[in-house]
Amino acid sequence: MDSIKLHNQLLIDGSFVTGEGELEDIINPATGKTLLQLHEASIEQVVLAVEAAERAFAKWSKVVPRERATMLLALADKIEQNGPLLARLESLNCGKPYLSALNDEIPAIADVFRYFAGAARNMSGSAAGEYLAGHTSMIRRDPIGVVASIAPWNYPLMMAAWKLAPALAAGNTCVLKPSEQTPLTTLQLAHYIAEIFPPGVVNIVLGRGQTVGAPLITQPQVRMISVTGDVSTGQRILESASNGMKRTHLELGGKAPVVIFKDADVAEAIEGLRTFGYYNAGQDCTAACRLYVEKKIYDKFVADFSAAVSTIKVGAPDDEGVEMGPLISERQRGRVASFVQRAADTAHMEITCGGKSLDRDGFFYAPTVIAHARQEDEIVRREVFGPVVSITPFNGIDEAIKLANDSDFGLASSVWTQNVSKAMRMAAELQYGCTWVNTHFMLVSEMPHGGMKKSGYGKDMSSYSLDDYSLIRHVMIKN
Ligand code: NAD
Repeated sequence: MDSIKLHNQLLIDGSFVTGEGELEDIINPATGKTLLQLHEASIEQVVLAVEAAERAFAKWSKVVPRERATMLLALADKIEQNGPLLARLESLNCGKPYLSALNDEIPAIADVFRYFAGAARNMSGSAAGEYLAGHTSMIRRDPIGVVASIAPWNYPLMMAAWKLAPALAAGNTCVLKPSEQTPLTTLQLAHYIAEIFPPGVVNIVLGRGQTVGAPLITQPQVRMISVTGDVSTGQRILESASNGMKRTHLELGGKAPVVIFKDADVAEAIEGLRTFGYYNAGQDCTAACRLYVEKKIYDKFVADFSAAVSTIKVGAPDDEGVEMGPLISERQRGRVASFVQRAADTAHMEITCGGKSLDRDGFFYAPTVIAHARQEDEIVRREVFGPVVSITPFNGIDEAIKLANDSDFGLASSVWTQNVSKAMRMAAELQYGCTWVNTHFMLVSEMPHGGMKKSGYGKDMSSYSLDDYSLIRHVMIKN
């Protein structure tokens, strides 16, 4: 670790500059110790970053797709070549198992840039033609302008990729603010970006939501705000965006229902959900955290699932065979512990696995299962964002649909059954941006990721995200 250089400067108009705002500690959640201190951006620096992006837009928006694609491909290559370093930084800053960061995240991140390099050259739309006699209509798809991109702490580099790749592919320029808790991989990425892209096309500012994020999104030259974060953050950003009538792209929280029918391959479901409920310590907006299990198999499922979860190996990023790391902060651990405590204090619920912090340095919390939860319980309704899965019994497909859809959130869901008709009906009726059948959690660059209801409405990845990051315009020519 001593040999790794940790960057701490902002990228503004192609130059690296030290922040002039307050000093912030960046913590290693696996030890609780400070990794480095960095200064966040001052408001003047936020303004400079937006002005640089605005100047760069004039030229970047005219760069042809082939050239934009070449740069995106070069960035993907850089990410791949520097995979071990980026994975190391991500696991230092987030506490993720190093091998998960290296083998799961880095290839997926490089692929996002490669996908959008191709997609930039394949935009499609309506046919031009005469829809009014004597007039030819055509559609243009044009970039929007300066995008303020605001990322969360759970997958810092992946969220940066999901935001930058479609925005740049569509011809926009960006000011990206990583989470104040996890900027390290984005700061490393900034160095590859500075080598490849013209100055000002991507600018990176550091700091907290209130001090840096809020002034960033209110700059008049910012034409679009893309945020991944908590529902309350999305609501605040929407209010602010309404003043400037800015386009918004919101990826917010989730509380994924997982419906397991009695005809499912239960052993496969248990093996899968042991991973999908606890990956990234459950700090995932699609985490399989709200299980509904059909009554006939309920008791055995609770026992077998709890036994499986109790074998998850928790530890530091480099521990042999480690499957789950710490939570991001002491605050987050306290939040998770208080959800579990309130559930434990409720007579009808039972903690069948975990339910406690681990007695060691860092912010570790044991993988936890809460059985016999009811629909009205807080643990079923609110996003915990930790390694905690609740289990609730149900009877028949109608009740399953009703319970699964009874939520403020609408991001991800899954159905486990060997009956195709049942799977198809569930997929049609579930009110979620994604429904998996006999799996959960799987994402691909070609398919959209995004929610409905309070989970927001932006789409990440896929050609739909290029639509989100561009404008449709009608041109009509009188013949
Ligand atoms: P958060 O809402 O606390 O912060 C997200 C980002 O918004 C941070 O960069 C923060 O500094 C910034 N921010 C906060 N207030 C702001 C303001 N007023 N103006 C501008 N920027 C502001 O979220 P978090 O704790 O970093 O991340 C966890 C949340 O993210 C969870 O709710 C999770 O479900 C959600 N999430 C959603 C998705 C998805 O794809 N839908 C993916 C990952 C995480």
